[in-house]
Amino acid sequence: MHEVAVVSEIVRAILAELEDYSVASVQEVDLLIGDMTSLGEEQLSFAYEIVTQGTVLEGSLLSIRREEVRISCGPCGFEGPAESLSYDDYAEHSIPILSCPLCKGPVKVTAGQSCRVVGMRFEEA
Ligand SMILES: [Zn+2]
Repeated sequence: MHEVAVVSEIVRAILAELEDYSVASVQEVDLLIGDMTSLGEEQLSFAYEIVTQGTVLEGSLLSIRREEVRISCGPCGFEGPAESLSYDDYAEHSIPILSCPLCKGPVKVTAGQSCRVVGMRFEEA
């Protein structure tokens, strides 16, 4: 389960970040996951529950928001969501080849390909 590895990394980063504070309890962690990642929300939440056991994050809520994939095209300047993206065309962990909906040129992915913590709510001791 890919999600466990991802969540382990995230939790490790959060705990390192929280070392600078004296934390009494953590209520919520906001996670933004890009639609281009093949991460499942249910699996992430489940992994989070397991991985945070015995840490200050235990019992906190993992609040997941999704970020749509956006692309920008160099040749014609198109910027927008990559709506026609087919997720069946590529296997997990590989990078899909996207093309511009207008000119079919090569595009750069500007959003939706990462998974990151965007916020946290906790009480200081
Ligand atoms: Zn274009």
